[in-house]
Amino acid sequence: MEKSKIAVVGGGTMGNGIVTVFAINDFSVSLVEISEDLVNKALKNIESNLSRLVKKGSITEEKKNQSLQNITPIISIKNTPVDTDLVIEAVYENKDVKLSIFKELHALIQPSCIFATNTSSISITELSASIRPDKFIGMHFMNPVPMMKLVEIIRGYSTSNETYEKIKAITLSLDKTPVEVNDFPGFIANRILMPMINEAVFALMEGVATAEDIDTVMKLGMNHPMGPLTLADFIGLDVCLAIMEVMFKGFGDSKYRPCPLLRKMVAANKLGRKSGEGFFKYN
Ligand code: NAD
Repeated sequence: MEKSKIAVVGGGTMGNGIVTVFAINDFSVSLVEISEDLVNKALKNIESNLSRLVKKGSITEEKKNQSLQNITPIISIKNTPVDTDLVIEAVYENKDVKLSIFKELHALIQPSCIFATNTSSISITELSASIRPDKFIGMHFMNPVPMMKLVEIIRGYSTSNETYEKIKAITLSLDKTPVEVNDFPGFIANRILMPMINEAVFALMEGVATAEDIDTVMKLGMNHPMGPLTLADFIGLDVCLAIMEVMFKGFGDSKYRPCPLLRKMVAANKLGRKSGEGFFKYN
């Protein structure tokens, strides 16, 4: 069977990981970014992802080079190939930005193409309402994508069974484990994870303990591989805040209110690893 042609829109933290995984599994994948600098930055990160896998003995040097050849860098959405079979959008966690990108893609790409979003929390139903709703789905990869087995597959109100089955099959072909989820704010992963991270930020803000000690308690006391504040830095504090906002608005329940310290740090551009500083400092 011929492999689907993939396009990943956004080559940031998640996009470059998603491209890496498709390329290793011999899909032809277009990497769409907004500028030459950003597409080159994403390609560099993909090369590092692949080199790390070579070092670990998961793939050979030859496989790394083959994988890189499966990737076509593309600048600007308007140059996305018309005959793409599956688009995966991985841009900022902002509903209006995602909607405008999908509208542009809808006008451009063949009608049989499935649109998937890697959103962490935004309603699939709302994103898909005026854009091929039966061929629209959530495909929520976990960070770092090459290492993490889970993909939450989220059905919008009108997602067809055919679309769901195709995405489930593609996910399995990437050697990932799909979990079917209905469309509620934050789905499963972030509905449970983000309130824990937010509570850790409240504990820090209230002076209950230092950032190091909060993380130590969760690592040694709960056997978490990473403390919640280190994890927040890894995910990106802007992404964490955006997810909390979606759940706060979506459920209308004060238990999802974002911690003021989280807001303040995002306003100060202390976004975690990607900006060099969050709850901890990075080189
Ligand atoms: P990011 O900020 O690292 O990357 C976003 C990228 O999108 C940037 O490189 C930007 O240049 C690009 N972009 C913006 N507009 C574009 C356009 N019009 N065309 C092409 N590219 C464009 O963000 P991220 O952390 O990778 O998050 C992306 C999505 O994945 C969000 O919806 C987020 O909620 C979700 N997500 C994030 C994580 C995480 O741990 N960071 C985990 C799972 C899901």
